[in-house]
Order: sequence, then structure tokens, then C-alpha cells
Amino acid sequence: MTLQNLEHRLAHIFAQDTHHKDQEFGLMACEEALAAARIGNYGVGAILVSPTGQVIERGQNQAFYPIFRSDLHAEMVVMNSFEQNFPKVDSMRGYTLICSLEPCPMCVFRLLISGVQTVKFLARDELGGMVAHMRHLPTAGKHLAERQEFVLADVSEELRQFALDIFLLNLEHLRQKLWSR
Ligand SMILES: [Zn+2]
Repeated sequence: MTLQNLEHRLAHIFAQDTHHKDQEFGLMACEEALAAARIGNYGVGAILVSPTGQVIERGQNQAFYPIFRSDLHAEMVVMNSFEQNFPKVDSMRGYTLICSLEPCPMCVFRLLISGVQTVKFLARDELGGMVAHMRHLPTAGKHLAERQEFVLADVSEELRQFALDIFLLNLEHLRQKLWSR
């Protein structure tokens, strides 16, 4: 699996797919993931969609480049930008965040606190994902989670597989970098 191979695959996945309602937004999240992988970061991307269906933020993982920032997962980048750009929005009811990969514990808690109503992700992260473990949240997190939804996005299987593969591309290399810190 190479970057070129993955770029080729994504270029041949259709955004319009009447059988999968999240395909178009899922593809955008994957384009962000590809951009992150190109510069050496974890290949993860996210977008934020307003209650009227507009894409208002796009973001990608920035954990290692241009500088090491342990907090800058794609979901955090998107939420940071949203809160900066839309300071007058005081409720995230009706907003949807779509992420190429299942959010980790840090991001799940941030997304719970933000109140974003729906979080959709394309690929499960068996090793680091938190959505499969929501029952282990502290009580305050469980209460917040009652008003929100974390679900698998409805996308084609080839797009879902791409979302996982682009994450795996730099994973081992970055894991070693993290361990050596
Ligand atoms: Zn995260």
C-alpha cells in the first residue's frame, strides 16, 4: 500500500451514490485524510455540516506536521476552527460532524462537550476508537451522550476501506515516533 496507490483509489470513487446517503460528505472527509497523509500526519480528516446541509468546516490531522501538536486530531482542528469562526452559535443542535475514522477518547469527550448533535465516522478504529466503548465513559460523559448520536456513516464499502487504509498508511511510522518521545 503506497500513497500513490491510495490517491489513485480515491480518484476513482464516486461522490454521487444514491445507495449511500453519506457518500458525498464521507468522500470530502477522505480527501482531507489523504491531504494529511501526504504531509506525513495520521491520515484522518473531518468535516462539519450545518443544520441547513452546508459544509462549513473542513480539517485534517495535524499531530506531527508542521509541528508536534498532541491535541490536533482532525475533529479537534474542525471544532477549534468552528468555535473561532462562529462565536455566536450557542447550540450545535442539527450540526453533523463526519470523520473518516472512529474518534478516540479525547475527541469523543470534546465532541460531547461541544454538543454537536450527530457524529458519523467511516472506519472503525479497533485499537484507538472510543465509540465502541461509550459504556465506559464517566457518568458526566454518559449524560451528555444521551442527547447526541455517534454512528457509522452510510458510505460505500470501497470508501470505508479507503478511510481505514489511509489511516494505516503512516500509522506504524508515527507510532514509533510517539514511543521515542
Ligand atoms: Zn482523536
